[in-house]
Amino acid sequence: MNFFSDFQPAWQSLLLEYDPSLIEWTTVCTSQLVGFLVPGLVFFLLDLLQPAWARPWRKPAQFPTHLKLWKMVRCSTKNMLTGWALHGLYLWCAYPRTLFVVDSQLPTWKAAVGQYIGVFLLGEGLFYVFHRMMHENRWLYLKIHSIHHGTGVAPTGMSVWYGHVVDHFVFNGLPLALVTLVPAIVLQAHILVVEALSILALISGVVSHSGYYYRDKTVYDHWAHHENSSKNLGAYAMMDVLFDSYTASR
Ligand SMILES: [Zn+2]
Ligand SMILES: [Zn+2]
Repeated sequence: MNFFSDFQPAWQSLLLEYDPSLIEWTTVCTSQLVGFLVPGLVFFLLDLLQPAWARPWRKPAQFPTHLKLWKMVRCSTKNMLTGWALHGLYLWCAYPRTLFVVDSQLPTWKAAVGQYIGVFLLGEGLFYVFHRMMHENRWLYLKIHSIHHGTGVAPTGMSVWYGHVVDHFVFNGLPLALVTLVPAIVLQAHILVVEALSILALISGVVSHSGYYYRDKTVYDHWAHHENSSKNLGAYAMMDVLFDSYTASR
């Protein structure tokens, strides 16, 4: 049985009609719109309008100033558009080669799950190694990664992409984070599998930088990283538990 077997004919006719390079670029941009920009803008509007019902869900309780909010949104959007432009430039120069597997045959469920888990595990390993390097190398931290940490703890959802453009390309988008792009290329994962993973990772990043929680006891591990940068260096807890850098306390 094919991955999304009902979707196979529609996907095939899309590939007959449009160029794989255009499909790749559009798919990546769409996943960033869905995973980053739309949820980011929802939190941005909450922080801008500060409705009374949203206040009890915010931790820390203070809303960011409008100046800080615009700074985050401007930088994150600039990083996103730079990624789109560079990806487009690559596809244009490398034409007809694409960066991802844009195959008319969708993978089987088994293959799709294998690719998803493989890209996730390898990506998480790379995320941890690069993030730790960004913190342990003084030059890299001061010149690049400290900009993201200068935002404080969870100022607004879109601050997930606030930072140096190099930081953005390593952890967020070129068009995917380098830490996801490399596993996707190495494992030859289908573009739809990679983008499904990417959307979930983006939403999780936006929520964990938003300052909003959905339950009284909710603690996002990344909050603790912004408070104590030697802890919680992975995007998820797995690598931190393995290398003894995990903390659940805030
Ligand atoms: Zn962060
Ligand atoms: Zn960090």
